[in-house]
Amino acid sequence: MIPVTKPFLPLIEEYQSYTKSIFQRGWLTNNGPLVNELELKLKSYLDIPHLLFLNNGTVAIQIAIKALELTGEIITTPFSYVATTSSIVWEQCKPIFVDIDPGSFNIDPLKIEEAITPSTSAILATHVFGNPCEIDSIRAIADKHGLKIIYDAAHCFGTTYKGQSIFMYGDISTTSFHATKLFHTTEGGAVFTQRPELLRKMALLRNFGHTSPVSFDGVGINAKNSEFHAAMGLCVLHYIEEIRAKREKQWLVYKNTLSGKQQIKLMKITEGTDNYNFSYFPVVFETEKQLLTTLEALNLQGVYPRRYFYPSLNTLNYVAKKNCPVSESISERVLCLPLYHDLTTEDQDMICRVILRALNY
Ligand SMILES: *Cc1c(COP(=O)(O)O)cnc(C)c1O
Repeated sequence: MIPVTKPFLPLIEEYQSYTKSIFQRGWLTNNGPLVNELELKLKSYLDIPHLLFLNNGTVAIQIAIKALELTGEIITTPFSYVATTSSIVWEQCKPIFVDIDPGSFNIDPLKIEEAITPSTSAILATHVFGNPCEIDSIRAIADKHGLKIIYDAAHCFGTTYKGQSIFMYGDISTTSFHATKLFHTTEGGAVFTQRPELLRKMALLRNFGHTSPVSFDGVGINAKNSEFHAAMGLCVLHYIEEIRAKREKQWLVYKNTLSGKQQIKLMKITEGTDNYNFSYFPVVFETEKQLLTTLEALNLQGVYPRRYFYPSLNTLNYVAKKNCPVSESISERVLCLPLYHDLTTEDQDMICRVILRALNY
């Protein structure tokens, strides 16, 4: 079976050498030495000054909203994983959906201003499939209207934009280190900010608000991660260049075979991207019927791509109704093709043949 993704696994011996050290120390969690080592190595690899390692990428968004003390309406994208929207609602704010650009699949900056009201406090946008948003335009709008910016950068490990890590942008950026992501710690995530007061606040939020074992500053939550998760992260990080290089090669196999076909549209990488991370390969069909026919043909060969992202988040049953025709239409027609470390070129060739045959090429 060929699924849409498979987690990268390091050599078990490597992981065991870390777990052995954890057993020897008897220090399993609460800011242990491996968590510290991972934070340092990630900062160095990503070339960023700060990050806080958390237990998942959903709590990362929730902590970002809390730290910025957002209330009222948050402008957001309908084309993302459900956690982007659910976190807004979980934090008692109201998601206001702004439709996406049909080329990049990211929030359309030209449609943001008309959605701003006196209750708007922030823009929460996803760099979907690792493809950067129009960061400069969004910053200009936010500054003009006094809004905060959070980027859900869950797909963006290793992406650089205009000379620096994409995690450097926004008031806060968040990411996920879930097992299905390009870099992972089994479960995990992180928040990034360049503002010292926000960093301090999020560090407190991560650990119950503890300022010492016997004192607290504000309401916190448990968003810490463990030594075992850090151990997996350290092992995976050791292979990250190999993972990236392989992913690029695989991505180009799909691109070279499927581009220029009239019935298939591919993602347009945003201008200003220095390094795309090749994390996903979305294809958009002309109709949902074509997608379903192709999906069935692939399933018959044991290939199981996923309908990322479907449904469009503005259709969830806990949000206010708002039409987002572009997002709804793309959601119905988009499929993410299998991409994972040990996917072979032969498998990719077969996948492309099945797709092209289903479309009568
Ligand atoms: C994976 C993902 C998340 C959630 O991350 P978890 O670590 O699974 O909680 C949030 N947003 C997007 C866009 C994601 O893909």
